[in-house]
Amino acid sequence: MSKILFFSAKPYDKSFFTGHNETHGFELEFLETHLGPHIVNAVEQGTFAVCVFVNDKLTADVISVLAARGVKVIALRCAGFNNVDLDAAKALGIRVCRVPAYSPEAVAEHAVAMLLTLNRKTHKAYNRVREQNFSLNGLLGFNLHGRTIGVIGTGKIGKAFCRIMLGFGCNILAYDLFEDEELQTRGVHYTSFENVLKGADVLSLHCPLTPENAYLINKQTLALMKPGSTIINTSRGGLICTVDIIEALKNQHIAYLGIDVYEQEERLFFKDLSGSIIEDDAIQRLMSFPNVLVTGHQAFFTDEALSQIAQITLESVSKLERGEEPSAMVMLS
Ligand code: NAD
Repeated sequence: MSKILFFSAKPYDKSFFTGHNETHGFELEFLETHLGPHIVNAVEQGTFAVCVFVNDKLTADVISVLAARGVKVIALRCAGFNNVDLDAAKALGIRVCRVPAYSPEAVAEHAVAMLLTLNRKTHKAYNRVREQNFSLNGLLGFNLHGRTIGVIGTGKIGKAFCRIMLGFGCNILAYDLFEDEELQTRGVHYTSFENVLKGADVLSLHCPLTPENAYLINKQTLALMKPGSTIINTSRGGLICTVDIIEALKNQHIAYLGIDVYEQEERLFFKDLSGSIIEDDAIQRLMSFPNVLVTGHQAFFTDEALSQIAQITLESVSKLERGEEPSAMVMLS
């Protein structure tokens, strides 16, 4: 029975993977800790696969220890793979698979939920009504119908997001390295990155984080945006320069910000820190704005998505164990 060792494992990972493993019969071991240099030596010789998530750090050094322990597969139970040194894995013969598509609607719908919370201030209304304060002062919102939504990245999630926003009666300006014909037929207008920023009332990020697009949203690019616009980021924290967005919120150039991801999130997200002193001043500053909504990387977190993640991950590891090749979309190296 081959072993899969899980890092950053939460009770819900255990529950979904254990359920889906009934048809595969792997030995599953779940560790709560992140994978990184501090723990990689604990990987036992002969472990077939490690299963990791967004904040595990698979640097070249970590991967070389995994290779020395005989690990054959790194299975990412997520879509993004900016945290894995793929060249190092390839050089050492470790196969890397991911879950390229698991309910893109889960993430797209969360982006929409963040937008609707901010534009109608339901996060404030919820607290206010619980205090028996039924005043409407300060809750004035704006319609999405007729607004221009800028979408960066129209892959699976961006496309699902576009479909929803078209249903709201929004105009959509999009930028992607590849233009999607179906979206064009539905009325999405592709243009340059700069033109999307200039034209958008709401900007939603749906591209992966790469070395080339780190801090895509920074002081210079923020200056291109309309005063009073909204930014939603459910993609990766490193796409936004936190210092610059805080400045843009302080000078009210950006009116609303919704982030499910944060550039320093690995120290915070997925943990209960309610009794701790948070030393990260930037996240504290962001959370202090009444017009900023922060969620802790929960966009993917639906029953449908977790089920698909467990199923696809175990199927990929199973195929690799049998010497079969999972689809090209799944394999990264
Ligand atoms: P995808 O690969 O289907 O689509 C990504 C799209 O971005 C592609 O069309 C690609 O051409 C485009 N792109 C790449 N670089 C770009 C750039 N510099 N500018 C503009 N477009 C660019 O991926 P997806 O499944 O839609 O996921 C998108 C991202 O969402 C992932 O990379 C991941 O970071 C993030 N994500 C977040 C969560 C969450 O829970 N918050 C969950 C899943 C995925």
